[in-house]
Amino acid sequence: MNKARHVLGISGGKDSAALAIYLFQKYPQLQVDYYTCDTGKEMDETYELLDRLESYLGKKFTVLKAAENSPEASFDHFLKMYGGYLPSSNARWCTKKLKLEPFEKYIGNDPVISYVGIRADEDREGYISHKQTVQSIFPFRKNIWSEELMTKFLSNANLDLAQSLLSEVSIGRKRAPFERLLVKRLESGFNQKAKLEQLLNLGVKDFNQLVFRFLKTTSYPLSLEEDFPLLENEEELILKDIYGLLTSSGVGIPAYYNKVTFETEIGQGQYARSRSGCFFCFFQQKIEWVWLLEQHTQRFLKAMEYEDEKAGFTWNQNESLRELMQPERIKAIKEEYISRRTDNKQSPYLLDILGDEESEGCAACFI
Ligand code: SF4
Repeated sequence: MNKARHVLGISGGKDSAALAIYLFQKYPQLQVDYYTCDTGKEMDETYELLDRLESYLGKKFTVLKAAENSPEASFDHFLKMYGGYLPSSNARWCTKKLKLEPFEKYIGNDPVISYVGIRADEDREGYISHKQTVQSIFPFRKNIWSEELMTKFLSNANLDLAQSLLSEVSIGRKRAPFERLLVKRLESGFNQKAKLEQLLNLGVKDFNQLVFRFLKTTSYPLSLEEDFPLLENEEELILKDIYGLLTSSGVGIPAYYNKVTFETEIGQGQYARSRSGCFFCFFQQKIEWVWLLEQHTQRFLKAMEYEDEKAGFTWNQNESLRELMQPERIKAIKEEYISRRTDNKQSPYLLDILGDEESEGCAACFI
């Protein structure tokens, strides 16, 4: 019986969907509550993916809606409140209002273990909530723990504690090298990242046991649990594994990831959408706006309706969608994109080409 709530936010993107499948297949003993935040502005493919995933898991997701009593879609409700001021990467009221606040209301003050689908081939943290009662776990990475927890555990102030906890863990012949590393102070030339990497290389399971003992001395939600099956988890999952999980389970890949071929004067290119989230999300790249215009014209026109050029409310900072949809701009965007793609020829995944931007955004919308 879990003492903390175990939750997984399904964004509609590939990584959180794959994480749900992974936990279901590998750790069926975990009682995971799935939730999704509906902005009312997702792509149809996102809703289709959620349906297929629910069928696969045999469990309904809790749908969280901000301003649930409003007759309007939650995004529209808050846009009105903000006087038509469109969200942007510098003023991201949408994530706060539509995703984080409903999530925090949903969990209340319960101790919560929140599973996050950041992959082993990504270098980002992707917080879901800063609430003290929420502990994030990253099952796709060798280091399943949050950076914040590692900062505490590996700090020089905790060297004695870490050393004493070692006696509570049975790690046999590796005890001496573990101890040497654990008591080694962080200093210039030996930072937290290096120490963590070396400890994990000595033994992921042993390290996890040690962290679990440490958690028992804290008020983190996992301190309430008698055991935690992911302490045994040594797997690292990267992008190709995510696609593998989605296809082998039959849940499939969200249709907007499917590449579509286009022609230009300098050659052929392929485009698609790189992530989940609202169809008008300001995080999308120019080539994705062109994809939206050409493949989902009605959606593009809807996105355009939100813009107010006179007031300076546009989705992109340097041009409006009216400007972006001009034939010469579309041509330039496509050709520039093809030139970039030439440098990334070896990768079969569009996401690798769009990779720089994938690290932008937030865990609540895109994982
Ligand atoms: S997908 Fe984009 S527009 Fe929608 S809530 Fe997230 S950040 Fe905001």
